[in-house]
Amino acid sequence: MDARRASVLGTLGIERFVPRERGLDAAAGAGQDPVAAQIAALDWPALERAVAGCTRCALASGRTNTVFGVGDPAARWLVIGEAPGAEEDRQGKPFVGRAGQLLNSMLRAAGLAREQVFIANVLKCRPPGNRDPLPEEVRCCMPYLQRQIALIRPRLILCVGRIAAQNLLGTDTPIGKLRGHTHTLEPFDTPVVVTYHPAYLLRSPGEKRKVWEDLRLAMEVARGNGA
Ligand code: URA
Repeated sequence: MDARRASVLGTLGIERFVPRERGLDAAAGAGQDPVAAQIAALDWPALERAVAGCTRCALASGRTNTVFGVGDPAARWLVIGEAPGAEEDRQGKPFVGRAGQLLNSMLRAAGLAREQVFIANVLKCRPPGNRDPLPEEVRCCMPYLQRQIALIRPRLILCVGRIAAQNLLGTDTPIGKLRGHTHTLEPFDTPVVVTYHPAYLLRSPGEKRKVWEDLRLAMEVARGNGA
């Protein structure tokens, strides 16, 4: 991004995120990690095969299936969640449980069918007992998500939940502060909108109004970006 554009975005209060080092491949550790560098060069079918056979972290030994993601690989919206749960691990698909039903409703509220977006997670394998991903698991798995982003080149990324938002944006900022703003992810200047995870909404239905505000922001940003 050139200095003029950066300054205009700064004036508008739009935060830009260069994940950790310099761009997505660097964020994925491609500089230091030879496997990450190889992942950053894969096409879509090779990426799917690489995820299916991945043994980069200990989660591989406990999984039933990897969960690569579903939807349109040329989608304008990319939805990013945290990690597969028990049902996702069983079926090999993201967001198929109760939280998935609610995610589908959220998408419908934004005028989108599930098939029109691509849905992926930060982790492609289920952490035991649905615990939070460990930093080492995120480090190993992030190159796959970074490559998915580079190949899809979505007009908008919708991060659902703290784990997805903080790991993608490389920040410890609480989700309550990340939502309500448009973030920009380099190197493609992809707009990122953050909202609450549907599993959290199931526990705290009082927060639905905020999610609707986030979805309205996402729709507006996506439209402004040609979606
Ligand atoms: N929660 C997530 O974050 N991802 C899934 O795929 C399912 C539940």
